[in-house]
Amino acid sequence: MNYLPIFVQIKQRPCLVVGGGSIAARKVALLRKAEGDVTVISPELCAELSELAAAGKIQHRAKTFSAEDMDDCVLVIAATDQRDVNQQVSALAHEKKLPVNVVDNPDLCSFIMPSMVDRSPVQIAISTGGNAPVLARLIRTRLEGMIPAAYGRLGALAESFRGKVKAAFPNVETRRSFWESVLEGRIAELIFTGHEDEARALMEKAIAEKSANPELPGEVYLVGAGPGDPDLLTFRALRLMQQADVVVYDRLVSPAIMEMVRRDAEIVYVGKERDKHTMQQENINQLLVRLAKEGKRVLRLKGGDPFIFGRGGEEIELLAQEGVAFQIVPGITAASGCSSYAGIPLTHRDYAQSCVFVTGHLKDGSVDLNWKALAHPNQTVVFYMGLHGAPTLCKEMVAHGLSGSTPVALVEQGTTPQQRVYTATLDTLLDTIKSKDIKPPTLIIVGEVVSLHDKLKWVKEHHNDDDDSVFAYKN
Ligand code: SAH
Repeated sequence: MNYLPIFVQIKQRPCLVVGGGSIAARKVALLRKAEGDVTVISPELCAELSELAAAGKIQHRAKTFSAEDMDDCVLVIAATDQRDVNQQVSALAHEKKLPVNVVDNPDLCSFIMPSMVDRSPVQIAISTGGNAPVLARLIRTRLEGMIPAAYGRLGALAESFRGKVKAAFPNVETRRSFWESVLEGRIAELIFTGHEDEARALMEKAIAEKSANPELPGEVYLVGAGPGDPDLLTFRALRLMQQADVVVYDRLVSPAIMEMVRRDAEIVYVGKERDKHTMQQENINQLLVRLAKEGKRVLRLKGGDPFIFGRGGEEIELLAQEGVAFQIVPGITAASGCSSYAGIPLTHRDYAQSCVFVTGHLKDGSVDLNWKALAHPNQTVVFYMGLHGAPTLCKEMVAHGLSGSTPVALVEQGTTPQQRVYTATLDTLLDTIKSKDIKPPTLIIVGEVVSLHDKLKWVKEHHNDDDDSVFAYKN
């Protein structure tokens, strides 16, 4: 982050604007909107500012800027067309540690002004750090269209009931849950459609009824985060990610996806790297139960699909047993994501009529599979967690009848910007893993469909040897 976004309270506090032209007038208007007490320093004023000064709405000192003008103000804006004056104002403000903005000169600023969507009391500020103001304006236009003006009225309703709701729901979790039901339900609809009085009446009723009988919202969302690319999340996954109180995630969830969970959610990393589980599965199961029973909405975020080699079943079993509410959101499993992004169809009328997903890693670390059923020429076999057991895999597939020249693909960090795809054969797979230094998470795809990769590949790879795994988000 280049800047810390904050909202500053300037109500009835002295703000200084140096400059009296039309640009200064725009800034003055903004400061007055936030009820700042504005003084303008300038030998002359434009018509707009003259009018305000004459009406006593701003103070005007008809002079050039000097150091003492900056006494007793809380915020400074320089908007003159003279570079040296702007520089002088900026230097002095920096010296006095006063926040200063110099219009159109980010280098001289200690704060910059965002683009804004104003639905007071709801305010959205957008900034590109001064790098792409046009983009900020574009985003603003989009948001303006998306967020009905009525959100301002909804915000005002929330503001006026704030104290009452706080008193009626002393518990933070139940209070949050109450507000969510208000802001997403019938009361919000009434406000949007202009039925303010009815909305207020219903609000009074809801407070009385629900505070007499509060229920803790505790629930677990077992959510599949897909293989890495955040664009592959489902709408429901995204919605739940943004309303969870706690997020319990492991190594396979990409940092780009973690960026999208609610900012103030508590984040718990439970690890899960081969042979060094940061937290034992039983403890994870219990943690989910405990958090939900505390009334929290717990997001259990898993790479890919939670029900495909994700131990989702084990986690849900204990929740069901303990009577904790839960919901399960499927995700795009690595096989689907990686095969699409590698241009390798899992089935194809000419090459494969079936497709099997298997794990190359069993509970005790061995690889003990029904090789006879897997080694079929017209079948695609996708190995999850297969790197460690690759020697056994190659040996057994050939021993059970597949040719050593059967094509194999390795998809490392599939669907992420670090994706690498290598093709080999059952005979050469181990050499490729070694020579290309392939690391988990990697998916191994065995079958004739792999031969289509050359023709169908479409994702450009950026090989960068300095790049570490993208799956290493730690907060
Ligand atoms: N539930 C997950 C799988 C968890 S098992 C899913 O449905 O995808 C972990 C294995 O999945 C890894 O060892 C690797 O083989 C595979 N995997 C997961 N994400 C991957 C990715 N982005 N690229 C390649 N393989 C991946």
